[in-house]
Amino acid sequence: MKSFKSIIKQLLFKTRFYKLSFLQNRFYIIPYHMIVDKPNRFYPETSTRDFEKQIVHLVKNYKVISLDEIVNRIKNRRSLRRCVAITFDDGFRDNYEIAYPILKKYNVPATIFLTTGYIENGTAPWFIKLRYIFMQTTKTHFNLSHNGTTISIPTNTRDGKFAASDKVMAYLKDCPDEERLPLLDRLCEQLGVNEFKGLNDLMLTWDQIKEMAGNSISFGAHTVNHPILSRTSVEMAEREIQESKRMVEEKTGKSATSFAYPFGKKSQYTPQIFPILHELGFKCSVTTESEPNTHRVNLFELNRPVPWEFSVLQ
Ligand SMILES: [Zn+2]
Repeated sequence: MKSFKSIIKQLLFKTRFYKLSFLQNRFYIIPYHMIVDKPNRFYPETSTRDFEKQIVHLVKNYKVISLDEIVNRIKNRRSLRRCVAITFDDGFRDNYEIAYPILKKYNVPATIFLTTGYIENGTAPWFIKLRYIFMQTTKTHFNLSHNGTTISIPTNTRDGKFAASDKVMAYLKDCPDEERLPLLDRLCEQLGVNEFKGLNDLMLTWDQIKEMAGNSISFGAHTVNHPILSRTSVEMAEREIQESKRMVEEKTGKSATSFAYPFGKKSQYTPQIFPILHELGFKCSVTTESEPNTHRVNLFELNRPVPWEFSVLQ
């Protein structure tokens, strides 16, 4: 009979072994939004310099493959050790003007998830408009009314503007989808900002998308209007997903088999959406949760650590 000590030893070895193989199969999907020369903390931006540095780091230390290839490897149980895929959400024009030349320079594939309504209308997403309103306002205070109480938030400094926009962002993300846009209109009135001149030409055009689609950039769906899918009806969520997929496919002439949940945190989508995505012909969908992925991951819940949490990629 084995001694107690040897059983413990064996167990420890096994645990270490499993832990090791688990770590070796980690792979990463990275979400970028905007790439700009001079980042502004109000927007989800990465500087051009940092972006290029990160791409160089990834090319040197990882296998940078397409999201499609990640899915194939998961399905075929092939190694994903030190594999990375690059993605961009929403479809900002700098993806074409700044990121695309860098991706080409290092021969790196990427997937861009398009919010098709914004591409079609050339308008900025509501969460960008919200930040813009606070950046532009000349009012020194902002009154936020919620649950019968009103608080006054100073907006006379850059820090104050940022803090106020953060509070309102959290509030708007939490409110039902149909109430959000009217609230944004009221915000414009209260803060005296009625034009979004600075946000013209912010989104990709279909011509730019078509050009990239022929050159190792894939396009996925990201809904039409960027709703929070856990805050809409399942029927509405399905329409948003289906229509954005249809539009991406019509314009690029290629099938769109990946989807990114708007905002992408666990509380912002529901498992009821997984079978809908499957039926619509998607092969995978991505979140913005930052846990690394392993082979055991649900294909409709692939996590993406954000670049500013890049320490996970050392
Ligand atoms: Zn988005």
